[in-house]
Amino acid sequence: MSSLEADPEVGRPAGVEFLDGTPVAPGGVEVLDGTPVALGGPRGLEVTRTLPSRRRRMVGAWCFLDAYGPQRLDGSPGMRVGPHPHIGLQTVSWLVAGEIVHRDSLGSLQEIRPGQLNLMTAGHGISHSEETPATHSGVLQGVQLWVALPGADRDGPPAFTHHPQLPTFADGGLTATVLMGELAGALSPARCHTPLMGAELTLAAGGRAAVPLRPDFEYAVLVVDGAATVAELPVRPGPLYYLGEGRSELRLAAGPDTRMMLLGGEPFRERIVMWWNFVGRDHDEIVAARQAWEQRAGGGRFGAVHGYEGPDIPAPPMPITRLVARGRTR
Ligand code: MN
Repeated sequence: MSSLEADPEVGRPAGVEFLDGTPVAPGGVEVLDGTPVALGGPRGLEVTRTLPSRRRRMVGAWCFLDAYGPQRLDGSPGMRVGPHPHIGLQTVSWLVAGEIVHRDSLGSLQEIRPGQLNLMTAGHGISHSEETPATHSGVLQGVQLWVALPGADRDGPPAFTHHPQLPTFADGGLTATVLMGELAGALSPARCHTPLMGAELTLAAGGRAAVPLRPDFEYAVLVVDGAATVAELPVRPGPLYYLGEGRSELRLAAGPDTRMMLLGGEPFRERIVMWWNFVGRDHDEIVAARQAWEQRAGGGRFGAVHGYEGPDIPAPPMPITRLVARGRTR
């Protein structure tokens, strides 16, 4: 979280109105550049983090977005994220290529492949690990998302669900797979706690499509592969393109074959504290969660992950100043 001071002006396309922490003008698009982050140290997997960003922390209840790959795993261990805790959020894991093994303190052991969803609801507390399996396809590409839980549900029991099949719809060259929520009548079975949606959109080279949106939702697009025009703006892999609220449809036009993630939701009204792997509401709550992890001794609030060959991830030290709850923009 300390590396979010990247210059937000880098990569700014010419002619795009760029607003600072205020709602996007009708038809406008805000470009949120990603920050490179090395997971598991300098030899670990490099990801591009676009949420939280310096100027915008959430899209609906979506509060965290890392994109990684495509990466060849020749001689590399791939993903090696040892056991670590979460509170107050859901993790949404989505692969474009490769495979990851998930283990958690509920006893879940689940390999995920492209087109499948792993949804982990932390609630009051859970711990998990994620790793590239010993036998793998040699490539890795995907996105890791978090959803903040609302006050009514954030202290509930932890849960894990694997969704091997998700609803899709096709329209011309467009195919959409709905991970969370609903899009164009296709409804994901995954459990949401606030009004939100997430979908993967693939558009064949040269294809055009219009996707229905909800005017009461805010939306953002992340290009995973290819290049396209979204709402008249040329888009490419890397940044998160924030589209704001008030749209009833989104026009898409692909250059080459293009794959993108569409994220949306009702603007999240609660102020939250995000620190390390925790989403809370105040400083003391984060301190308590951190202490429970550091003093776990193989049990307690976060349980234990079995079968991961490697050390747990220790919590970083608390900052000197008290953490302050913040809203969805800065
Ligand atoms: Mn995690």
